[in-house]
Amino acid sequence: VGFVPTMGALHKGHLSLVETAAKECETVVVSIYVNPTQFGRGEDFDRYPRNLQQDLSLLAAYPVGAVFAPTDSEMYPKGFDTWVQVGQIAEPWEGTCRPGHFRGVATVVLKLFNLVEPDIAYFGEKDYQQLLVVKQMVRDLNIPVEIRGCPTVREPDGLAMSSRNQYLSPDERRDALVLFQSERLAQQLVDSGETDAARITQAMRDHILRVPYAKIDYVAIVDPETLQEVSTVNRPVRAILAVRLGGTRLIDNMEITPKPV
Ligand code: AMP
Repeated sequence: VGFVPTMGALHKGHLSLVETAAKECETVVVSIYVNPTQFGRGEDFDRYPRNLQQDLSLLAAYPVGAVFAPTDSEMYPKGFDTWVQVGQIAEPWEGTCRPGHFRGVATVVLKLFNLVEPDIAYFGEKDYQQLLVVKQMVRDLNIPVEIRGCPTVREPDGLAMSSRNQYLSPDERRDALVLFQSERLAQQLVDSGETDAARITQAMRDHILRVPYAKIDYVAIVDPETLQEVSTVNRPVRAILAVRLGGTRLIDNMEITPKPV
């Protein structure tokens, strides 16, 4: 059994996970659940796009054995009071910007694992820290599920696909390209011999801030396992970023590899 947990508003990123699962598993289960406990106060839980009928018709074209779309009272019945708290890997970056987010994620993912009992679960690298948090939880709690990370699917111009892209106005959609461009710039700088992570992240910031109304939550070059910032790019690292454009918060990341010597 292969399992693809989602919050719906499905796009080609989600569908690529379904395709990979279908290649490797006899049965694919997709969950669609906008998990309230991973949203903070003032975040976009209320306006998060929900369209179950459209999601189901998209999935109808794929070999999906079951779709699990529970209600809030099924997932969090009255009296619910147990939480999964992943440690250090959940603390920086998204953990700092969105306090409680990963507690909600880890808790709902463990519940979904227990309900679906998958052999393999598929997560996108798009949410890179989330992937590491889930792997840490599975390791630490001896959860009998294999976690597979799958590459980020992008729009033709490079913008990482996301349900939240629907929030973008036409101008913001155009300006959102600076996220991908800044990551590509990081790789180009490394290709041209730059190894200083501070200089690379500064160049990324400068590029993003060419959009005058962009607000950077973080831009960092980190170790791909620990998410600790690195000072020198002398091995494969990850460029990670979170940027707000108007009312929309976008995240993205990319592997940055030094040129072979
Ligand atoms: P979400 O519905 O945003 O919670 O995402 C559900 C799953 O799809 C997560 O594992 C995400 O990382 C993954 N995902 C979202 N966007 C993409 C993308 N553009 N490419 C690949 N996977 C994605």
